[in-house]
Amino acid sequence: MITIDSPFHITFSDTNELPLYACIGKCKSVLWASDIDDQMICNKCGGEIENAIAKVHYRVLRKNDNRLSLNDFKNNLANLSRDDKALIKSKIGSEEKVGILNIVKPEYIDKAQNEWA
Ligand SMILES: [Zn+2]
Repeated sequence: MITIDSPFHITFSDTNELPLYACIGKCKSVLWASDIDDQMICNKCGGEIENAIAKVHYRVLRKNDNRLSLNDFKNNLANLSRDDKALIKSKIGSEEKVGILNIVKPEYIDKAQNEWA
């Protein structure tokens, strides 16, 4: 797993690969190859995408060879919304991989809804 801090999101992934790209538009999300197509445009806010640089676009919070656990989420996000908790529980409880979960930090939920969600 890997957990990544970016300006408005905490992003969780089952794999321990560093993100390849970062949105430099409104949402500033980090992205992996599976998140983008040839157009190199952010799928969340439509912003431009650049190659991601650690400590510029994002910070690695935690990285290891284990699967994501509920504690990984709880440790990084206080006051998870009900929707996020339900989403996380449904993902963690299944055999399937969580994949990539990009969760808006609680203090930016209004901003996200107004600007890109
Ligand atoms: Zn974006």
